[in-house]
Amino acid sequence: MKSFEDYIQAASKNGRPPRPGIVLGVRMCLVALKRLEIDDPNKHKRSLVVVAETDRCLPDAIQLVTGCRLANRTLKLRDMGKMAASFVDLATNRAVRVAARESANERSAAEYPELDRLEALARAYRTFPDEKLFRADWVKVQLQPEDVPGSHFQRVVCEQCGEGIGFHREVRMGGRILCRACAGDSYYELL
Ligand SMILES: [Zn+2]
Repeated sequence: MKSFEDYIQAASKNGRPPRPGIVLGVRMCLVALKRLEIDDPNKHKRSLVVVAETDRCLPDAIQLVTGCRLANRTLKLRDMGKMAASFVDLATNRAVRVAARESANERSAAEYPELDRLEALARAYRTFPDEKLFRADWVKVQLQPEDVPGSHFQRVVCEQCGEGIGFHREVRMGGRILCRACAGDSYYELL
């Protein structure tokens, strides 16, 4: 398995070190893989599913270390605004949730007063021991059959807007098959 430094090198762009969020994300993945006793994530393609609880840096770090991606349905985004993720091993039916400790931010400034805030954070994320950076808990993650990679569900068509819907995301309402938007669960408004 690649080391922490290998991943940091891979995430560096034009000789510039990765942002603190990426460093923390890489560390988070390594904690999870260790707990799950997964030595080489490449050998666990499609049996590892990660649910990220925020966007920005974290999904990038997860993709880098675990190879899990939205496109092959092994990475899910459940935006809770938290620097946390659950790592589900479908092969062993175990899952671990790793969350960044908020206290690490304050401690980084105290530990490295000579550095500016971002540099102190990046240093702390590289050097603090796992327990100081994260809490990790065994959890149960209920993935729906349609959320498991490789699952196939027949597409249906929304009876109101006519758009196709995959992966069992339709809603049955008043005897009709509707997409979530037409059923009232929309994130946009037609102008
Ligand atoms: Zn619709």
